[in-house]
Amino acid sequence: VGGGPAGLAAAAHLALKSLSVVVIERTCYDDVRIGEHLPPSAVLSLRELSSALNLEFGSNFLSAGVDAYWGSDIASHMDYFLHPGQSGINLTRPRFDAALAQACEGLGVAVLRGAILKGVTREQDGWKLDLKLDDGIATFKCKFVVDASGRSAKFARMQDSKLVISDRQIALAALGSTSVSVECKRSIVQSTEHGWWYWAPLSSSTCLCIMVTDPALIPVTGRSNLFRWWLDNLSNTVRVSEAIHAYEIDKKLYICPAHSQFTNPCHGEFWIAIGDAAFAQDPLSSRGILKAFEHGKCAAHAISRYLSGEDNALFLLARQFSEDYTKYLSTRQAYYEIEKRWPDSTFWKSRSAPGYSAKQRIRVIGA
Ligand SMILES: Cc1cc2nc3c(=O)[nH]c(=O)nc-3n(C[C@H](O)[C@H](O)[C@H](O)COP(=O)(O)OP(=O)(O)OC[C@H]3O[C@@H](n4cnc5c(N)ncnc54)[C@H](O)[C@@H]3O)c2cc1C
Repeated sequence: VGGGPAGLAAAAHLALKSLSVVVIERTCYDDVRIGEHLPPSAVLSLRELSSALNLEFGSNFLSAGVDAYWGSDIASHMDYFLHPGQSGINLTRPRFDAALAQACEGLGVAVLRGAILKGVTREQDGWKLDLKLDDGIATFKCKFVVDASGRSAKFARMQDSKLVISDRQIALAALGSTSVSVECKRSIVQSTEHGWWYWAPLSSSTCLCIMVTDPALIPVTGRSNLFRWWLDNLSNTVRVSEAIHAYEIDKKLYICPAHSQFTNPCHGEFWIAIGDAAFAQDPLSSRGILKAFEHGKCAAHAISRYLSGEDNALFLLARQFSEDYTKYLSTRQAYYEIEKRWPDSTFWKSRSAPGYSAKQRIRVIGA
């Protein structure tokens, strides 16, 4: 369930194991998807997946690195040329997801586009899924379900799993375009009093600009007021506003959840959640797509072992996800603790407090 990077990577690896796979995808890949940057380690992982799929991804924009103004006005430069892989990539999504879906079809995977999972029943010999299609409803039977529906963890929540939420955070994203070709190949991360900003070129004439903040800090209501507030905050960023100066900013702001969350439990009999449906990270990590590729590959191995009678194969993978999430929470806290320039700011004060990521702050949201 879900034809994003995690679902499609799992589908590809399952198909390579000669299993029969159907991907149920809500959209026809005609939506806007935020989340585009692949650091060199993710590019290596994509190369491996794409060679199995015969997928051409060379038309995506190469990224030379990131300049981070975090904890200081002086930049920390991360130069990708010095890393294995030599460069990063800024994907154009959902075009990339659509190409991945098509490449999976080349391996024999059936991709149902415009199909939304609405209900599920456990039957003696497998699952019965209720789907809403463009032109009506349908039921679909299968032996095993992979929940790759992203942060909504749609299938897992239908199994009474809870989303364990570790903070409150949203991203306000806008796209920019210019008729003049811009040569910059580096992204910028900059912290400010009320959150942090991210700017990335997506091509020589388009870019993405995101503010990450706490929803409680937004003092306005209404889309046009929100856009004005976003622009006011943008003008306080020196580096990001310099970078976006050459572009015309599209007035439509995309509002995305950007908190950290874990789905508990993230597996059960004949199902497992992967990618953001298993756990979702702060966009600061820039690791969500890499995690999706890795989860897809590991899940395919675990499912194949589970279907051959290795009962604890799913449990072992879910335990690995839980350990990865715990490690991720402490890494995230270490990064937020670096920023000490606004000791009275609500955003930074809460994030750098000792135990910010500890269990007692975690809120649980049910189905
Ligand atoms: C602001 C922001 C910036 C980010 N930037 C980066 C970045 O630079 N680099 C990076 O690596 N990661 C980034 N991420 C994270 C990254 O986008 C995600 O981790 C990644 O997309 C997760 O892949 P996924 O396949 O698990 O989920 P998704 O990409 O969310 O895919 C889920 C799929 O499931 C489908 N779906 C949902 N519900 C249903 C349903 N009921 N029925 C059928 N289909 C359904 C959706 O249409 C979608 O195709 C960012 C995230 C945010 C919020």
